[in-house]
Formats: sequence, C-alpha cells, structure tokens
Amino acid sequence: MTKQTHAFQAEVKQILHLVTHSLYSNKEIFLRELVSNASDACDKLRFEALDNAALWEDAPNLEVRVSFDEAARTLTISDNGIGMSAEEAAAHLGTIAKSGTREFMAKLEGDQKKDAQLIGQFGVGFYSGFIVADKITVETRRAGLAADQGVRWTSEGTGEYEIETITKAGRGTDVILHLREGEEEFLKTWRVKSTISKYSDHISLPILMKKETWDAEAAKQVVTDEWEPVNKASALWSRSKSEITQEQYEEFYKQISHDTEAPLAYTHNRVEGRSEYTQLLYIPAKAPFDLWNRDKRGGVKLYVKRVFIMDDAEALMPVYLRFVKGVIDSADLPLNVSRELLQESRDVRAIREGSTKRVLGMLESLANSEDEAERAKYAAFWKDFGQVLKEGIGEDHANQERLAKLFRFASTHADEGVSLADYVSRMKEGQEAVYYITADSLAAAKHSPQLEIFRKKGIEVLLLVDRVDEWMLSHLYEFEGKPLQSVAKGAIDLGKLQDEEEKKKAEEVAESLKPLLDKLKESLKDRAKDVRVTTRLVDSPACIVVEEGDVSGHLARLLKQAGQ
Ligand code: ADP
Ligand code: MG
Repeated sequence: MTKQTHAFQAEVKQILHLVTHSLYSNKEIFLRELVSNASDACDKLRFEALDNAALWEDAPNLEVRVSFDEAARTLTISDNGIGMSAEEAAAHLGTIAKSGTREFMAKLEGDQKKDAQLIGQFGVGFYSGFIVADKITVETRRAGLAADQGVRWTSEGTGEYEIETITKAGRGTDVILHLREGEEEFLKTWRVKSTISKYSDHISLPILMKKETWDAEAAKQVVTDEWEPVNKASALWSRSKSEITQEQYEEFYKQISHDTEAPLAYTHNRVEGRSEYTQLLYIPAKAPFDLWNRDKRGGVKLYVKRVFIMDDAEALMPVYLRFVKGVIDSADLPLNVSRELLQESRDVRAIREGSTKRVLGMLESLANSEDEAERAKYAAFWKDFGQVLKEGIGEDHANQERLAKLFRFASTHADEGVSLADYVSRMKEGQEAVYYITADSLAAAKHSPQLEIFRKKGIEVLLLVDRVDEWMLSHLYEFEGKPLQSVAKGAIDLGKLQDEEEKKKAEEVAESLKPLLDKLKESLKDRAKDVRVTTRLVDSPACIVVEEGDVSGHLARLLKQAGQ
C-alpha cells in the first residue's frame, strides 16, 4: 500500500484540539496511557495465543521497552503484543468507538484545571501522546501477519493522519513520540524511570529501559546497551498485603478505573476453599457520569492465574454493584472461558456471592464505624450511590436484610441519614408498623396533610422521595418483623396507638354526616371510589387516599410521566 492520507473523525479532531491546547497539569500521564496500551496489547496476545500458538512467533517473552534518542528528540514505547493491521490502526487510532466522548469534552471545557488525568477515563488515552509530542509515528505489525504487512501510522495531531505499508520484523507496536520544544525532560532516564515507577509499577510485564552508568572520563551518566527492568512486574493483587502501600493500592485503582480521585474503600483477599480466587475490589468516592446506565459494563476485570481474560465480566458482580471496580483472579476457571460459560459456572457464582458479601461488608464497616469521619464517608457514598444500592432489594434477595440496614432516608425526624434501625429505636410504645409516605420531593412529602395525625401523635414517618423508592417498596415489605406501611393508603390502622374515644367519636360523626357523604359520593362517583370520614387529619379539611393494594398516587404519577 502506498502512503494514504485520511481525515480524523470529527470527535477525534476535537479531542486532539483540547489535548494539545489545554492539557498541561499532569502531562506525564501520557506515559501511563501508552504503557497501559502496550500492556493491554500483550494481554490480548496472550489470550489469542491460547487458541493459536503460532502467534507467539519466536518471541515468547512479552515485554515493554521504553527508550529515547536525544539527537532525534524522540521517546519510544515498544511492545511485542498483538499489534495492529492497517484496518485496525485506522479504526483504533483514527476514530473513537466508545460513547461518552461528549461528556468528556464538556468536562474538559468546564474544568478550570484542565487536568490531563481525565483523558484515560474516556478511552482516548492514546491521544494524550500529543500533549508532549508534535508528531507521533506508530510502527506496528499484527501478530500472525507476514513481516511485510507492517503498518506505519503518522500524524501531527491536527486534522489528518497517514498510513503506509512497511516491513517490520518483530510483531507488536512501537509508538514514537517526536517531542515538542520544551519537553526535553522526557529525554532523561531519571524522569522517565520515576514516572514509570509512579504509575506503572504494578504492570505485570517487565518494562525495560537501557541501563545508565557513570562514565568517569566524560564525568557524566551515559546510557549503555544493556536493558534492565524498571518496574516490579508482579501483578499487584498477587503480592501480599503487607508488601503493598496505600499509595500503590490507590495508584492501581486510578489506573484501572481512570478515576482521578482516590477510592473510598478497598478490600484485598485471597479466598480459599471450594473456589479459589483473589479479589481486589474498590468502591469509588464519586459516581461516574454513566452510573445510571444499567447496561453499562461493570468495572471488574477477570484474570485466571494472572492471565488477563476480560474486562467488565458482568457475571462477577450483581448489576446493583456495577460501580465496584477491581480485579478477580481465579485459580479454578479454564483459560478459555467465555462470557456465556461465565454465566453458568458454579465457580463464578461462588465468586459473585463472595465478592458481594465483601462489598457489603466494606459498606457496613464504614456505616457502623466508631469513627465519625468514616461514617461521613458512608453518608457521602449514600448520596451518590444510594439509589443504585436500592435496586439490590429486588435483585439480591439473599442479602435483602443487610441491604435494608444500609439504607438511609429522610423522615419527619431528620432530613437525611435515617436508617431503619434508627426508626425502629424511636418507635412509640404500641406502634407496630414503620410508616412512610412517598412523594416527588421532600417539600411535597413534608407538607402532605396525610402526616397530620402522625405529627400530632409524635410518630415518625419516613419521607421517601427517590424515583426508585416505589419500586423498592414493592420488594421490601418489612424490617425486623415490622411491616412497612404507607400513610396514604386505605384506612390507616394505627392499632394500639389509636385511642378508643377518638374512634367512637369518628363513628358517631360518620353516622351523622351520612347524608352529606352520600351526596359527595354521588357527585364524585366517576372520580372517587369512596368518601369517608377520617381521624387522620388535624388541620386540613380533606385528603385523597388510595385503596390498600392499589398503586399509590405517587407511583400513578410516575407511570403517567413515563407514558404508561
Ligand atoms: P483504550 O486503551 O481505552 O481503548 P486508547 O486511546 O488508549 O483507548 O487506545 C485506543 C485503541 O488503540 C486501543 O483500544 C487499541 O485497540 C489500540 N492500541 C493502542 N495502543 C496499542 C498498542 N500498543 N498495541 C495494539 N493496539 C493498540
Ligand atoms: Mg488505553
């Protein structure tokens, strides 16, 4: 193929413009992104080679080499991973396949800091090379293709790129950055090495650089021809806890989640028994922009004996814990396991159950901590993720009770943070049910006339104002043996709380008002099932209630909004 010039997809052009014009803080993350792509490419080779050993060619040792050429002002990141064909290079380095690009740009444009960390979050890490380079050359050959089927991709990061066929003996990819004026720091061993150990220490492949020695004659450090590893090259989760610092745990989290903030909590365990696996799971501090997409891929990577198998293996986590990030490394699953097989595997079920328990355990220890700061962390978590966690009530019956204890609500007692246990501890003598009201907003709930009698009697009522609450209530009927009861349904039965005298008076009044009630019933007959005298109101003259067992007024409104 002779040289061909292609235009970037419009989104890529916009990204490149932003990258080159506004990302300066943390510019060194380009190295993390390129090393992570190299490592991904090696993972992919290892995986494809399970079915096709010929892909190994004669280079069985996967590795990443980082080198620079001072005279040419280039920094090169090479890997002997899967490589790219010409079509793949055009597709992966010229278009953006993933959704979320628009959110990414909005975030970048709005963010005063213009933090380059953001870039990895949206699957556009490759382009971060243009922060420090005014030209990038990629020389690559897909594993399995002939040496003369190599590809050279070149771009100056403006509107277009060029592709031509080359001969490349070794499989894999060289990314050659032609550094901009002023970026000479990346032509120094110490600078590159320290950046790699900061961001990429846990990468499970060796990352090699040329060794430097002191040349006494020249009185300076000189680069030799000998390669040495600059990272620890053991998968972080396979090391023992005592060897891992909090910073390393956090850096690993940022790498796999592309989050810029440290995680809220993490758990790292080796599980033995019927099913053997290692889990390293993180709870993010903030909700990602696509949390509400239930089809969104999960955040847990599956490895089998340290071999990467797949990203976002949904079967490893219930949908309502889709915000959890991390790694699960199984000792039992076959290396060629497919997504379909995962769904049916008993080992996977055991892993999912075990991991769910761990995550709930992390949340419980925050929520119930003696330490106020930890409890505040839980409150912050609940703000961002509470609605998602509520989905678990219907999805995960086995853990219903544990989940219900983690829930926090508003009530007539406090605007937030009320747990069902708090509520039960404040129940009045003789009170048998947990009372709640559902509404569109806290203000609407608080001003509902249906609360009057409860206020008068000093009985707490939960104010449920999240969209998922109605749905949650269709799965959660009771807490610790106390039924959950709507204050807006049927004739409320206050049980022992009702005083006998009031009841009798109401009956008498009802009797005497019968002619009026009949008239009202007649004139409202198409719109109301019944008209009753009530003791539930204190100040308001009338209120609407729904029959026990009917959809609540609030749910009816939600369904109507949804066009049903
Ligand atoms: P992401 O890594 O999130 O997919 P990037 O912008 O970092 O996004 O990379 C885009 C794509 O380019 C990768 O998904 C991969 O298909 C391809 N790619 C990048 N670097 C390499 C490499 N060193 N070897 C093989 N493919 C690569
Ligand atoms: Mg990447």
